[in-house]
Amino acid sequence: MSLALARKWRPRTFSELVGQSHVVSALTNAISQGRMHHAWLFTGTRGVGKTTLARIIAKALNCESLNDADPCGQCDSCLSIDQSRFVDVIELDAASNTQVDNMRDLLETAAYKPTVGEYKIFIIDEVHMLSRSAFNAMLKTLEEPPEHVKFILATTDPQKVPVTVLSRCLQFNLKPIPVPLIKEQMAKILDDEKVEFDDRGIELLSRYARGSLRDGLSLLDQAIAQGDGKVQEDSVKSMLGVVDDSLVRSLLGAILEQGGNPLVEKINDIERMGASFSYVLDEMATLIQRLSLFSLTTEGIDDDLIEGYQVLVNQTDDEHLQLLYQIVTVGKRDLPLAPNEKVGFTMVMLRMMAFLPALDSGVEPKKKITEVRQRVIATSKPTKTSAAVKNTKKSDASAVLNTNDEWKQFVSKNVVSGMAKMVAENAEFQSFSEGVLRLSLDSEHKHLLEDRYKNKLQELIREHVNSKCRLEIKVGVASDTLMADQVVESKNRLDQTTKDLEEDPFVKSLKSDLGGTLVTESIRPSK
Ligand SMILES: [Zn+2]
Repeated sequence: MSLALARKWRPRTFSELVGQSHVVSALTNAISQGRMHHAWLFTGTRGVGKTTLARIIAKALNCESLNDADPCGQCDSCLSIDQSRFVDVIELDAASNTQVDNMRDLLETAAYKPTVGEYKIFIIDEVHMLSRSAFNAMLKTLEEPPEHVKFILATTDPQKVPVTVLSRCLQFNLKPIPVPLIKEQMAKILDDEKVEFDDRGIELLSRYARGSLRDGLSLLDQAIAQGDGKVQEDSVKSMLGVVDDSLVRSLLGAILEQGGNPLVEKINDIERMGASFSYVLDEMATLIQRLSLFSLTTEGIDDDLIEGYQVLVNQTDDEHLQLLYQIVTVGKRDLPLAPNEKVGFTMVMLRMMAFLPALDSGVEPKKKITEVRQRVIATSKPTKTSAAVKNTKKSDASAVLNTNDEWKQFVSKNVVSGMAKMVAENAEFQSFSEGVLRLSLDSEHKHLLEDRYKNKLQELIREHVNSKCRLEIKVGVASDTLMADQVVESKNRLDQTTKDLEEDPFVKSLKSDLGGTLVTESIRPSK
């Protein structure tokens, strides 16, 4: 194979195109009915087939023996368009500076009739980069298009195309090509090229192509070269700097078990393998997403993974997974800001470790932390928690509310969001008798005393004690409140966690290996 696969296998007819069936059917209909619009604009990210499609259209408009709207690929017109020597098909790349000067002149030739073909076809790639004078020249033609002129425009950035141009074009958005289609095409090409491959290898390459068949085929070229003429999972992994799924799982396992040493080892492993930390974060986010889904259904999960997933899921819960996902995706976003990828990655892992799930069967010594974290997790995801509230309510239907401690417990568990939570957290229990629950609200928060918040709170209390009680709130002294506890607790926890982390062998090695300092902000509950 001397020719690059992407070039050799560039689709030459509509039927060879991979993906974009919505555009292809619109185009073939227009062509077979002879009702071709005078200007088409294809938008979409790089490598999805915009200019390939434009060339096929140019051929279809000039082909001497059309095959159901598909160009034959054999006639003089088809062949010379494929070789870019058909005088009436003018291909311009607005992104390349070399052509900028004569682009306006070329566009002004639109007025002249085609030399050999029926149409004069302008294919302009990255059209948003045309100079103002070139745009004006094109606009002149677009406003009163002669019968013999067709424009096929392509851009990755349609927002930058002037509205005057956009409004005169038929616009089609080409979608990223789905992984299974890219994979299928790779398998077909490799079969044809008689190259040995395994399924996992091309699966990985297809995912890495990120919707671009052209990029996918360039990767395939590299994989063949680096894999001694074969495409196999191991060599593809080392080429892409990809780590094994099991490593990502054990990384998460180490985090959930709060194992500093195993975590350091895994991070060093990743570095030794020359893998991309950014890729590992992607894989971590994917794993967390799968685990979230796993608690609902095992559908689509390989049998040999189920046991491992179960072990991980047992150590976490839905809210916690949501929080971890957020930490990972935000961490990925901020990775370019870190001094280097390893440092950034390590901090993301530490941040994940700083939060524990609010499991009911929580380990005793960590209980205090768990309570605080439970609140942190609850506040960070207010929309999801109403479901959680309903669950706890069911489990202790005949709950009582007779002391301030019981009140605080109720608030931390059942009042999870909104202004009602603010009221409840700043109120102290007074009494509950004859169907009236009396609270005292700290005068600093009297502005919160609105009927709608009070009613919301009353509703939650009624659900909790399972009776039609009434809520009375008076403004006065309220010093022993949940909010007051939280302030103390959160400060204590921060001090303790900071101390623990300072003592942690992992953090110590981080400091000595990388000269890192502990960013205490990263270990504080983000309230
Ligand atoms: Zn032809």
